[in-house]
Amino acid sequence: MMAKAELMDFDKAIEKYEVVIGLEVHVELNTNTKMFCGCANVFGSEPNTNVCPVCLGLPGALPAVNGKAVESSIAIGLALNCSIAADGRFARKNYFYPDLSKNFQTSQYDEPIAYDGELEVPVSNGKVFTVGIERAHMEEDAGKLTHVGGAGRIQGAEYSLVDFNRAGVPLVEIVTKPIFGAEELAPELASAYVRQIREIVKAMDVSDARMERGNVRCDANVSLRPRGQEKLGTRTETKNVNSLRSVENAVRYEIQRQAAILESGGSITQETRHWHEDKKYTSAGRPKSDADDYRYFPEPDLVPVQPSEELIEKIRSLLPENPASRRARLQAEWGMGDNEFRDIVNSDLLDEVDQTVSLGATAQAAKKWWTGEIARIANSEGKEFTELAVTPKDVAELEQMISSGKLNDRLAREALAGVIAGEGTVAEVVSSRGLEVVSDDGALTAAVDKALADQPDVLEKIRAGKEQAAGAIIGAVMKEMRGQADAARVRELILERAKS
Ligand code: ADP
Ligand code: MG
Ligand code: ZN
Repeated sequence: MMAKAELMDFDKAIEKYEVVIGLEVHVELNTNTKMFCGCANVFGSEPNTNVCPVCLGLPGALPAVNGKAVESSIAIGLALNCSIAADGRFARKNYFYPDLSKNFQTSQYDEPIAYDGELEVPVSNGKVFTVGIERAHMEEDAGKLTHVGGAGRIQGAEYSLVDFNRAGVPLVEIVTKPIFGAEELAPELASAYVRQIREIVKAMDVSDARMERGNVRCDANVSLRPRGQEKLGTRTETKNVNSLRSVENAVRYEIQRQAAILESGGSITQETRHWHEDKKYTSAGRPKSDADDYRYFPEPDLVPVQPSEELIEKIRSLLPENPASRRARLQAEWGMGDNEFRDIVNSDLLDEVDQTVSLGATAQAAKKWWTGEIARIANSEGKEFTELAVTPKDVAELEQMISSGKLNDRLAREALAGVIAGEGTVAEVVSSRGLEVVSDDGALTAAVDKALADQPDVLEKIRAGKEQAAGAIIGAVMKEMRGQADAARVRELILERAKS
C-alpha cells in the first residue's frame, strides 16, 4: 500500500491557502421495504435472502417507487429548508457495478426531489456557519462485496463474495454547495455538519442513522486555492467516510497533503480517495472528471414523482423541531452553562432529561440523576442506560418524593436501585423496602433524647453556643434509625432540647 504522503503543518497550510469543502452525505432510509421492490429493508439477514427479480435486475422485472421513501425524502428536503420539486424523474446512472447487478443505479440526476436549501451548523467556538444545500436526491444503495484473503481488499484477494441484500435499499444523497470561509475550522465544520444531518434524520425517524452500519456516510470534497485566487482549486473526493471523527481527520489530512503538493510546485489530481482510519491517511482511488461519463438518461420504467402541495404541507406540519434549535431552547429554559449542558448532550441523555423535566422535576435534579447515579449504575453493570429499567417517570417520581420530604438522597438512591432491579415503581419500592423518611416527632424525639443522654458533653457544647456540635447527635440518630430520619427535623429537635 501507498505510504503516508508528505504533509504541511496544518496552521501553515491554512495561512497560505484558502480551504473549500463540499460534502455529499448518503442517508439510508429505514423504510420497511426497498426503494423499487417489496424486499425487506433490514440489516443483518443471511446473505442474498432479501432479493427478488427487481433488485437483482433480472430481465423483464419492473420497478415501482416506494411511496414511504418519497415521503421521507421530502421530509429530509424540508428539514434542510429546500424547495421540493413538483415533478421529478428518476434517471439511470450507467456503470459497472459488481454489487448492483442491473449495471445501472436508479438515481435522480437533473431533477432531484429537493434543491436549494441551507442548514445552520454551530461549531464548538460558538460560531454558526450557514451551509448551502445544492440538492437532495433519491437513489438506491448497492450490495456488499466481501473480499476474502488479501487483507479484505480486492487486490490480492483469493475470491470475492457478493450479498445483494442491500442492493435497492433507499438512499437520499444530500449535496452541499461549496463551503467557503471555514478556514481552520473546516475539518470541524465538516464533522459538525454530518453530525447535524445525522441528528435530523434520527429525530425524524427516517433513518436508523447508525454510522457504524453505514446508514449515514460522507464523501468529503476538499480543494485549496492560493489566497487571492478566484478560480477554485482542484478537488479530491474522499469516499464513504463513516464516522464523525474520520470526517474531521480526513478533511484535515487532505488539507495538509494538498498544501504540501502545491507548495512544492505540483498539482492536485482530481480523483476519489479512500480514508484509512487505522493509519490516518488517504490513498488514491480512481481519477474523476467533472463530467463522469455515466450516460445518465431518464428511467423509462418509472413514472415521474409528483408530490401534491397537500402532501408536502402535511409532511412539513409533522416535522419535529430541528435538533440544534431544540438544544439551544432547552439550554436557555434550563438556565445551564455550556459545560453543564454539554455533559447531558455528550452522554446522549437529552431526551431523558427533557422528559423528566416535563414530568415535573427541576432541570438540575433531572440532570443530576441521569448523568450521575443512573450513568454510574449503567457503567458499573456494563450496560447502556437505555437497557436499565428506569424511565423519566421514575426519576420524576423520585424527585417528587425528595422535595416533599418523603425521601432523602440516600433513601432515594436505594429506591432507584430497587426500581432498576425490577421491584416495581418508586412508590412500590419505597413501601416494600420500607424506605420512607421518618419525620414523626414521637419516634424522632425518643431517638434524639437517647443520643443526647449518651453524649452529655455534646449537649453541653451545644448549650454553650456551639451549634455545629449537633452534627454528632444527628449522626447518632441517623444511625439509630438506619438513615431514615428526617435530618432537618432532627436538627430542630436537638436545638429545642438544648434550650430547655
Ligand atoms: P460528484 O458527482 O463528483 O460527486 P457532486 O456535484 O455530487 O459531484 O458533488 C460535488 C461536491 O463537491 C459538492 O458538494 C460541491 O459543492 C463540492 N465541490 C465542487 N467543486 C469543489 C471544489 N473545487 N472544492 C471543494 N468542493 C467542491
Ligand atoms: Mg456525488
Ligand atoms: Zn427486491
